[in-house]
Amino acid sequence: MNVLVLGGGGREHALAWGLKKSPMLDTLYCAPGNAGIAAIATCVSLDHADTDAIIAFCRANDIPFVVVGPEAPLVTGIADALRGAGLKVFGPSAAAAQLEGSKRFTKDLCREFAIPTAAYAAFHDAESARAYAETQDLPLVIKADGLAAGKGVTIAETRADANAAIEECFAGRFGEAGSEVVIEEFMIGEEASFFVLVDGRSSVPLATAQDHKRVGDGDTGPNTGGMGAYSPAPVMTPEMCDRVIREIIEPTVAGMAKRGHPYTGVLYAGLMITDVGPKLIEYNVRFGDPECQVLIPRLKSDLLSALLATADGTLADQAIAWHDDVALTVVMAADGYPGTPKADTVIRGLEQAAAEPGVEIFHAGTKRNDAGEIVAAGGRVLNVTARGRTVKEAQVRAHTAIDKVDWPEGFCRHDIGWRAIAREEGGG
Ligand code: AMP
Repeated sequence: MNVLVLGGGGREHALAWGLKKSPMLDTLYCAPGNAGIAAIATCVSLDHADTDAIIAFCRANDIPFVVVGPEAPLVTGIADALRGAGLKVFGPSAAAAQLEGSKRFTKDLCREFAIPTAAYAAFHDAESARAYAETQDLPLVIKADGLAAGKGVTIAETRADANAAIEECFAGRFGEAGSEVVIEEFMIGEEASFFVLVDGRSSVPLATAQDHKRVGDGDTGPNTGGMGAYSPAPVMTPEMCDRVIREIIEPTVAGMAKRGHPYTGVLYAGLMITDVGPKLIEYNVRFGDPECQVLIPRLKSDLLSALLATADGTLADQAIAWHDDVALTVVMAADGYPGTPKADTVIRGLEQAAAEPGVEIFHAGTKRNDAGEIVAAGGRVLNVTARGRTVKEAQVRAHTAIDKVDWPEGFCRHDIGWRAIAREEGGG
């Protein structure tokens, strides 16, 4: 079977790498891809908003199955358009993608189906939002309702911060995404990510992960798209996973079906593990980036067959097996990130780095220059993923590989996995 992957980040490189191992795969296409993906797939230029062009490309190249990586085209209905043309799609409909596209939608679903989450209220104007915020304990969480590239959330420590965040949203800082504002209670606990495949009715748990959002060691500095991750997340014990499935995932899948918008695709639950149990922070309707780069290397089963079963509604027949090892990924970013990253700097030594045992390098923002060299073409540029028996072992392997990457204009964090390593070293 020929397959088209949409996207061009580390997540899509990991997906392409996983799909490539499948005996069911014939030709793999990726749009737009990156320099790493180009080594294992045919990269093509297709505008994700131009569904007619994507459909025509699939017809011309005998591609029956499209795997959508990022959330934005899902929220605007790419899966509906492709399915309407008879293609199979891994990814939810626009109606089901509201789980990520509208925070209000998800909070209302939680309320209706008794899914544990932070207490909240939603507002269409600044005055009533401010009046509500005045009555709430601090800190308080202020969120733009729609997609804001991870920047629409403020944890307000003071009333002034809360008011400023409310003003900013309604003043249009996030465009249409901020025309509605959700104000939430601040939850205390440890965060973890939980991934499941959902085929409309059934769900199959994938694995757990934890990521590091801040740019600097010690979880300091500004937020980023993610500077590293590891899987599994030690806080997600088997008992905790069972609770998440029972209390959060199953009521969500049933609730979406009941509302007439059955969910298909990967459902990524951002969780807070609190004193009273797991609570939902948010849903994403696609694999996390960089979490995908630690999930796929741990997957023992055939990725293509799992993604197809999700699209076909036959997940109930799928058993998904995992390697026992942990996986850890360290993001290498271009100097300047998360501000303006330095572009077109040459990266050498990737082959030597990737030759380290247990190491895979997934490209994010890379391309080839006219001389055929790999150069940086984005903020987050490489994901150095290593497997190991422990998080510490995986971390050491990842950095042994990173030391071989010759890229003076790049940087990375040196403490990815610190929480899990502290647990390992403390024996807990
Ligand atoms: P979100 O985009 O909703 O995942 O929020 C981004 C980050 O803000 C989360 O990963 C949490 O660290 C934090 N956050 C969001 N909502 C809450 C909440 N209600 N309580 C505590 N932290 C939160």
